Amino acid sequence: MMTEIAYCRKVPGRPDVIVLGAGVSGLTSALALATADLGVEVWTQDLPLESTSCAAAAMWAPYLVDDARVVGWSRATYRWLLGRTEEQGVRQVAGREVSRSALEAPLWMRGLPDYRGCHDAEVPSPYAVGWRYRAPMIDMPAHLRALVDDLAKHGVPVRRRAVRSFTEPLSAAPVVVNCTGVAARALVPDDAVSPTRGQIVVVENPGIEEFFTEHDESETPVYFMPHGDRLVLGGSAEPGRTDLVPDRRVADAIRSRCAAIDPRVGRARVLEHRVGLRPSRASVRLEREPLDAGHVVHNYGHGGAGITLSWGCASDVASLAGEVLR
Ligand SMILES: Cc1cc2nc3c(=O)[nH]c(=O)nc-3n(C[C@H](O)[C@H](O)[C@H](O)COP(=O)(O)OP(=O)(O)OC[C@H]3O[C@@H](n4cnc5c(N)ncnc54)[C@H](O)[C@@H]3O)c2cc1C
Repeated sequence: MMTEIAYCRKVPGRPDVIVLGAGVSGLTSALALATADLGVEVWTQDLPLESTSCAAAAMWAPYLVDDARVVGWSRATYRWLLGRTEEQGVRQVAGREVSRSALEAPLWMRGLPDYRGCHDAEVPSPYAVGWRYRAPMIDMPAHLRALVDDLAKHGVPVRRRAVRSFTEPLSAAPVVVNCTGVAARALVPDDAVSPTRGQIVVVENPGIEEFFTEHDESETPVYFMPHGDRLVLGGSAEPGRTDLVPDRRVADAIRSRCAAIDPRVGRARVLEHRVGLRPSRASVRLEREPLDAGHVVHNYGHGGAGITLSWGCASDVASLAGEVLR
C-alpha cells in the first residue's frame, strides 16, 4: 500500500531524490516517490531496455529469493499489477506450475484466482505434482516503456549517467536511492551480491495461451510464458557467470526442453535472445544508510524475483525517503 505523506521540496529546482538505476526497481521506486509528490530524477548507466529487468521472462512468482519480507512485498506488487493493462505489458494468464517432488502447494499460490491441484493427465513426465492458477504475466519491454511514460507524466527524467560513488548524486540531492542491481556489488561495495546469469529465447507464439513453469529451483528451469503473439521460453540460472552474449548451446537446450512439454515450441520462429544477470543475495537489501553527505536508501538484491517484489519494495523506498525529507 502506498504511504500517504505530504512532502515539501527542500530546495526549489533541486531534486529531492536521485534514483540510481533504470531497471524495474529503479523505475518503480521513482514512480512511488513521484506519486508521493517528491522531485525525482533517475540516473542510470544503461537505459531500461538494456537492463537485466528487460531480460526477465516475466511472471509474478517469488523465485530465487529468500527473505521474510517477500510475502508482503509480493502481495503489494500483485495488487498493483492487477491495475495495470495489456498496453502496459501486464496480462492475467492461467497455466500450470509443476514440481519434480510431491510437495504441498506453497501458501502464496493457494490464494490465487482459479487455483486447484492438477489432474494426473495435466502433469507431464518427469514431474510428480502440479497446480493450476492465474497470475500476472509481464511483458518486460512493454512494462518498462510504460513505467518510463508514467514517470514522464510526473515530470521525472531518466538520464544516462553512471556514478562511481554515492558522493556525486548526494551533491545533487539529499537522498539517493540505490537500485543498481548486481552492480551494487562494486558500487556499495557489497560482496553479498553476486550474479546469476539467465537467458531466454523469444519465439513467435504458435498458439499457446497458457503458461507452463517448473516449481523446482534448478540451473535449467523449464518455462514458457505467452505475451500475445510472442512466447518467452526459459530458462537458465548460472551462478557466477557474467557474459551477456546469448549462448547458442544454452538457447538450443532451452528450446528442446520446452518442446518436450509442447512440441509446437520446437517449430516456432525465433525472434530474439535475451540475457540478464540476476542480483542474487541471501536477502534483499532495503534499508536507509546515513552517510556524511546525505542518505542512501538501498533497494537491491532481488534475485530471481525483482519484478514480483517491485511495487512492494518501491512503496517501502518512498516511506524511508519520506522519513528523511519530512
Ligand atoms: C532470464 C531471467 C528471467 C527472470 N524472470 C523473472 C520473473 O519471471 N519474475 C521476476 O519477478 N523476476 C524475474 N527475473 C529477475 C529480475 O529480472 C531481477 O530480479 C530484476 O530485474 C532486478 O531488477 P533491478 O532493477 O534491481 O536491477 P537491473 O534490472 O539490473 O537494473 C539495474 C540498473 O542499475 C543501473 N546501474 C548499474 N550501475 C550503475 C551505476 N554505477 N550508476 C548508475 N546506474 C547504474 C543499470 O544500468 C540498470 O539500469 C528474471 C531474471 C532473468 C535474468
